[in-house]
Amino acid sequence: MTAPALPLAAITQDVLTLPRRLPESVLGGGKRNLIGMTREQMQTALVEAGTPLKQSKMRLGQVWQWVYHWGARDFAAMTNLAKDYRALLATHFVIDLPEIVTKQVSADGTRKYLLRIAGGHEVETVYIPEENRGTLCISSQVGCTLTCSFCHTGTQKLVRNLTVGEIVGQVMLARDDLDEWPKPGEPKDETRLVSNVVLMGMGEPLYNFDNVRDAMLIVMDHEGISLSRRRITLSTSGVVPEIARAATEIGCQLAISFHGTTDAIRDTLVPINKRWNIKALLDTLRDYPRLSNSERITFEYVMLKGVNDSEADAKRLVKLIAGIPAKINLIPFNEWPGAPYERSDPERIRAFAHIVHNAGYASPVRTPRGEDIMAACGQLKSATERARKSAKLIAAEAGL
Ligand code: SAH
Ligand code: SF4
Repeated sequence: MTAPALPLAAITQDVLTLPRRLPESVLGGGKRNLIGMTREQMQTALVEAGTPLKQSKMRLGQVWQWVYHWGARDFAAMTNLAKDYRALLATHFVIDLPEIVTKQVSADGTRKYLLRIAGGHEVETVYIPEENRGTLCISSQVGCTLTCSFCHTGTQKLVRNLTVGEIVGQVMLARDDLDEWPKPGEPKDETRLVSNVVLMGMGEPLYNFDNVRDAMLIVMDHEGISLSRRRITLSTSGVVPEIARAATEIGCQLAISFHGTTDAIRDTLVPINKRWNIKALLDTLRDYPRLSNSERITFEYVMLKGVNDSEADAKRLVKLIAGIPAKINLIPFNEWPGAPYERSDPERIRAFAHIVHNAGYASPVRTPRGEDIMAACGQLKSATERARKSAKLIAAEAGL
């Protein structure tokens, strides 16, 4: 058995003893964080801080714009507010985003951010630039309670739900990093670097429903980041009872992690199928476009060699979703160390896409992005978790 190149103690120290952040309540001496407050919450908070009730609506409009439209990080920058009022704000509030621990940039331009949030937990956010759009893939939970067998996040236990501020904060951080906030006095630039947001990072967004909803309402707010609901896509493994709520309370685009065309196979790939099977899921989906006033649902289908990629699977898939306005995203499996599956061969993916296409569905094969930095779909998992695993492995190898 080969000994590790570095003594184990050194490795554990380096990778595991990261500085820990103080609990949110202690940050800024008990000041409240404006990021993540809904309009109602912010107005109440401003009144509680001493804003006269009569002025509170106007003040809300001003502060809201500074925070979410201009991306201000400092009360001193809020130049249309009187100095005294800025000072009042500064004694009661902070404007606090998650902290970027590392940023990796892939050869294809994809950026992966590792963020540290209150409690010292870590989540990942990925920015994918394309020719005519830029998609930000954000996380909704630390880890995931579900255990889809092909997903790397699924091997990490749920640690906690992200707060509203931590979800909106991911969008705001990316805009910071891309220098995308409008600048007062400069002409409005309509090109958006973060033009689309997808809830496809770590976690099951519908198991953190209220926070995801409030965060997306903030992202869509016309006096703030102002992204259209058509540019936000929520991906779910199929939490059936929450799907109708997503339609009426958020109204964004929906993507479904479908991946299997029989209950037997979907049970093994997406175990939530044992709770709500294919029929229950499809019945709910038929109502989604009407309830949310959206055009079509995206069916995500990961291509796993010899598991779900046969001609029969493709035919069953189009039959199952008949009548639902849909697009089918074929995702070549993104391999991760120790994964129990392999990616389907390109010819198989092409043949599958052909059948789907001939049935009248758009069937783009998603090009894996950021693979060199493990930023592709389903590969997100916190670095400390990975490091912990490798430290354990090393310990086992060294017979410790
Ligand atoms: N929990 C949500 C959203 C996060 S996963 C959901 O399951 O929908 C985002 C997408 O990546 C899902 O479609 C998921 O099934 C897919 N995915 C997970 N692991 C993958 C992998 N290793 N290769 C390709 N796609 C994967
Ligand atoms: Fe969780 Fe989605 Fe991964 Fe399944 S695919 S384990 S629901 S993050």
